[in-house]
Amino acid sequence: MTASKSHTQAVAAIEELGEWQRALRAQFPIITGHPELAYLDSAATAQKPKAVLDAVQTYLTTANANAGRGTYPWANRTTALVEETRDRVKQFLDDPDPEQSAVHFTSGATEGLRTIARDWLPQLLADGDEIVIPVADHQANIEPWLEVRQQLARQGVHVRVLPMPYQRASGDYDHTAMASLSGPRTRFVAATHVHHVYGGNMNIHRVRRALGPDAVICLDAAQSIGHLPVSAAELDVDFIVFSGHKAMALPGSGAVWARQARGPAFTPGGWSGTPNTAGIASLATALDWLEAAGTDRIERWTVALAARLTDGLRHLEAYEILGCQTSLAADSPVQPRQGIVTFRHRDIDSGDLGFVLFSHGFMVRSDSHCQGNAGERTGSVRVSLHLYNTLEEVDRLLSVLNSLG
Ligand code: PLP
Repeated sequence: MTASKSHTQAVAAIEELGEWQRALRAQFPIITGHPELAYLDSAATAQKPKAVLDAVQTYLTTANANAGRGTYPWANRTTALVEETRDRVKQFLDDPDPEQSAVHFTSGATEGLRTIARDWLPQLLADGDEIVIPVADHQANIEPWLEVRQQLARQGVHVRVLPMPYQRASGDYDHTAMASLSGPRTRFVAATHVHHVYGGNMNIHRVRRALGPDAVICLDAAQSIGHLPVSAAELDVDFIVFSGHKAMALPGSGAVWARQARGPAFTPGGWSGTPNTAGIASLATALDWLEAAGTDRIERWTVALAARLTDGLRHLEAYEILGCQTSLAADSPVQPRQGIVTFRHRDIDSGDLGFVLFSHGFMVRSDSHCQGNAGERTGSVRVSLHLYNTLEEVDRLLSVLNSLG
């Protein structure tokens, strides 16, 4: 058998980045403390490097206070931390116009998307307008928009919801169908950067091309922040929403970045109370850490491991891969698979397979992954990778999957 191009690329990336990866993996206490286990569920939440754990400890033991209220040094330091982290988020996202944009801290992607839906979208929409929603993506990026439609309908403003078209074989959006579906009344599109089940990069530049220059694009970047470079300047989107905990910060942290160039200004309404200052401290350090590690290298590493896993699974008769059947290597013009590979065994129930895999030390997700109603009908097993995962873990997983026949 001759090695496929993606296999060759995967091997090259793994060899080239091996030393870099070993040094970074060593910085995750929960990973090094459990050598018998393989954590393969980073799409659910990512593990934290020591630098992030230390930053939280330092903040809570040297400057813990409320933000934007007191005038004594700890309070001033906390206020500065919150403001500096806003700037840090803009910089991390390669913000083309940081003077104009806004960053709002949330408890995660779900709250971020819901805040845009509740506080901003109703100002944009008029009777007869259309919105496109990604019906086979995560529920967090579907429900809030349907709630807005209902809320507006009660006020006599009727908004048409257009389901995002998909290419079934790959899980990518169908950009051609999107272009014919949308028209001058299509004001808002909710999209996802990396699909949480199929692992594909959803080619947001093609969404922009299909829609033209005026529609607002709200990007759910829950699965891309920390996994690959995310450039607001290149993507030409209006909102970027993410969860801190999936980007190596603490649970309960996250942000909305609002470009403030199309539609009304984003000013989340109401009294928002005390911010999650320890979470914000963790986010600032997590972004520093990820930038120093290099999100381009993290992408190459996880894409290479995912390619190895996809290629291995393709040769195992008993398994069906969801989304792209091939690994679509990093240089693919079509749809590179990021570090998420989801599959089913043709005879073993996915829930049971999850238990079997844990008996071999593998922690995977096995259910329907909170996918919208237009998604998969039956459960599956999802392996989601980060930079602390290794080739040895992937090969051991393939060997266990193979042994299950
Ligand atoms: N969007 C996507 C694509 C996700 O994968 C997830 C979580 O898995 C979310 C949104 C929701 O994130 P959170 O639960 O952190 O709010």
